[in-house]
Amino acid sequence: MNIHEYQAKELLAKYGVAVPTGYPAMNAEEAVAAAKKLPGPLYVVKAQIHAGGRGKGKFKELGADAKGGVRLAKSIDEVEANAREMLGNTLVTIQTGEAGKQVNRLYVTDGVDIAKEYYLALLVDRASGRVAMVVSTEGGMDIEEVAHNTPEKIATITVDPAQGFMPHHGRAVAYALKLEGDLNKAAQKLSRQLFEAFMALDCEMLEINPLVETTDGKLLVLDAKMSFDSNALFRHPDVAALRDETEEDPAEVEASKSDLAYIKLDGDIGCMVNGAGLAMATMDIIKLNGAFPANFLDVGGGASKEKVTAAFKIILSDPAVKGILVNIFGGIMKCDIIADGIVAAAKDVNLSVPLVVRLEGTNVQQGKDILANSGLPIVSANDLGDAARKIVAEVKKAA
Ligand code: ADP
Ligand code: MG
Repeated sequence: MNIHEYQAKELLAKYGVAVPTGYPAMNAEEAVAAAKKLPGPLYVVKAQIHAGGRGKGKFKELGADAKGGVRLAKSIDEVEANAREMLGNTLVTIQTGEAGKQVNRLYVTDGVDIAKEYYLALLVDRASGRVAMVVSTEGGMDIEEVAHNTPEKIATITVDPAQGFMPHHGRAVAYALKLEGDLNKAAQKLSRQLFEAFMALDCEMLEINPLVETTDGKLLVLDAKMSFDSNALFRHPDVAALRDETEEDPAEVEASKSDLAYIKLDGDIGCMVNGAGLAMATMDIIKLNGAFPANFLDVGGGASKEKVTAAFKIILSDPAVKGILVNIFGGIMKCDIIADGIVAAAKDVNLSVPLVVRLEGTNVQQGKDILANSGLPIVSANDLGDAARKIVAEVKKAA
């Protein structure tokens, strides 16, 4: 789960991390009220969307020379004008894709005099089983280019979670940032605070870009991106409460309500499968047959009629779907019960695209009979390869 920049900064401040003062705003009036609480004379109005690259982003509705999603304002009037221009419009950045994201929240914050921008991120490094601290002296809006063109300018320091953060880790981070004196000490302290927040909150990623050295010699977190391990959210109701569903794919939100694991993909063959492994294999075999899956969907062990119906609805809410492949192994659930569920759900949603069903397991023959006698144009398949070939052929035929 991702959260907004302002929420991440509020969380980090609880761990002692130095961030500029700022306040979220849902409308222009709130933006003005927020600015009035700040000392001025320099303010920054920042679009709050779950994507980076806002500074260099472009608003779809505004002209090509309009400013991006991070704007300096030199007066409260300018804060208001910028807030009015940004709110409700669609910001397109390198991370949003072409569709962009509508800006519904802003963050109004102190303008900082920047001497230099650095990069500091923490993430779970699955290969080493450690927390990796990735740092660079070349922070700011072009970090992707730094990673691509001059990867030697990025250093990685890993911390064994069983051992925890040791003073030498902090020194290594400060050294990699080439900081001296008080700034060096501040970087050591900051990296420890970030590590503590990262572990305590079960983060997946915590990215500070930029971390800045101010002209008066302080180290400040100017941007923060934070994501959390969804499987650990039950331990953090305060973090779970920060979820902003408007930033997520609506179909994925709907799926999570029905306890379905659904991820939207780019293809046109909808998949409904039980078990993540079987779902992965199903997507592979669709590709092997020259087509592309429209989604990953694991209905889980107990695929009830309600769940199957919810799954059909979610799959069909994607206009790209031209056919559906159901691949279910009836182990705990029996195939005849699943077949009943599929037939009822297909009638319920007025299924309008070809449907191929492959069932295997307990009572498979009864299950196939139910499908065959349903009066619905359901194509039955005998094995995974057969199912994939059939759905690809059905979709081609219908096109
Ligand atoms: P994004 O990464 O989404 O583009 P950032 O928060 O990193 O958004 O902002 C982009 C750039 O805007 C930063 O690299 C920094 O140069 C500038 N900036 C951001 N916040 C402030 C601030 N409070 N004061 C001054 N400059 C800022
Ligand atoms: Mg940034």
